[in-house]
Amino acid sequence: VSGPLDREAAMHTQAPHSADLSNLWMPFTANRRFKAHPRMLAAARGMYYTAADGHQVLDGTSGLWCVNAGHGRQPIIDAISRQAAHLDYAPSFQIGHEDSFLAASEVAALMPDGLDRVFFTNSGSESVDTALKIALAYHRARGEGQRTRLIGRERGYHGVGFGGISVGGIAPNRKAFSAVLLPGVDHLPHTHDLARNAFSRGQPAWGGEPFADALESLVALHDASTIAAVIVEPLAGSTGVLVPPRGYLERLRAITQKHGILLIFDEVITGFGRLGAATGSAFFGVTPDLITLAKGISNAAVPAGAVAVSRGVHDAILDAGAGGIEFFHGYTYSAHPLATAAIRATLGVYRDEDLFARARALSAPFEEAAHALKGRRHVIDIRNLGLVAGIELAPREGAPGARAAEAFGKCFDRGVLVRYTGDTLAISPPLIIGEDEIGRIFETLADVLATVD
Ligand code: PMP
Repeated sequence: VSGPLDREAAMHTQAPHSADLSNLWMPFTANRRFKAHPRMLAAARGMYYTAADGHQVLDGTSGLWCVNAGHGRQPIIDAISRQAAHLDYAPSFQIGHEDSFLAASEVAALMPDGLDRVFFTNSGSESVDTALKIALAYHRARGEGQRTRLIGRERGYHGVGFGGISVGGIAPNRKAFSAVLLPGVDHLPHTHDLARNAFSRGQPAWGGEPFADALESLVALHDASTIAAVIVEPLAGSTGVLVPPRGYLERLRAITQKHGILLIFDEVITGFGRLGAATGSAFFGVTPDLITLAKGISNAAVPAGAVAVSRGVHDAILDAGAGGIEFFHGYTYSAHPLATAAIRATLGVYRDEDLFARARALSAPFEEAAHALKGRRHVIDIRNLGLVAGIELAPREGAPGARAAEAFGKCFDRGVLVRYTGDTLAISPPLIIGEDEIGRIFETLADVLATVD
């Protein structure tokens, strides 16, 4: 193989390690390319990773958008250790443990009014599939079992369950499995409009109503009586930081409400402070019927996720249960004691350090620092909201994604972790970050972009 990928590979820091790399099949990774030139992390504390070769790497991405309070937080470590020694596991079905109820109440307290019923999962993908099943069960419980159609969005990412890839809008995640995607799924158009909205600061001014009105077209096409739910990320992260145009989410809410369609916000990224509020729903002032959560819920210290459900949806399903099991769904590790301990300690750190307000206060200097890259080589768009930014690069001829991949590698070698998705570099630092480190992330990016062909 020759070309840009080799050039990128040649720049990798060769991390010292003694492991045989052949057994592990890495997720969402070019395995052969990675294993030829592995980059490894060995430790983490606060805002920094230590790479396997010893160099410090500023975590500009909160891991995978999940370590919102920074790494190695003592209250979380202590809570997990205590719980492991005290109650390592309790069955999640037909029996309870107190921490699971306390964790649910504490999560509920951070949700918009009325979304105070909480179902625990272990990941974002599980949260999405759970939310879709709740939507179907809700309509059936109300005698509207013909409402089975699910509507997602192009460039949506909702994890990798069969439900999630079906409503998701990322072609490579779907194509290889097409024969068994869920039937009866449709997609809204994505909201990214480079021609009209490039270099918008915060929410783009153009497009809210036209993009959302595409839902009316789908309703006209399929009839509202066949549609169960619409699922969108309030801000799409994994597909390149797509910020909703002003008015878009409000209009989606109005249309779904008008037609009795449930609205699900996938807040796996936007939940727990990323935008400077507990949820994207609170930030945008738009309340859906269900919210999917994961990542920041436990600061990623233990895998965990949840679905916050409106009382109305919850009660309709329980009312139809006739005293038996109301919802035939759950995981062995729903509300795992280690997860609920991590969740409670994490929410305590967010509260004690007022980290959502901190993220809100930092979002202005963060926006300034991100937009200072305007005019740099290759940069064709900069998008931001709260403590998340996307820097889109013009694709290299014949090698889409290669430029961003090269920039990612060079940033890592210079001690800054960013993420790339297609030709967009995504930045989403821990909420404990300061202005100096924010400056360092974007200055490193500026230096690196000057060296990327
Ligand atoms: N939904 C969204 C919006 C996400 O960003 C992600 C993960 N990036 C997921 C779902 C899937 O989460 P997980 O990887 O924990 O299954």
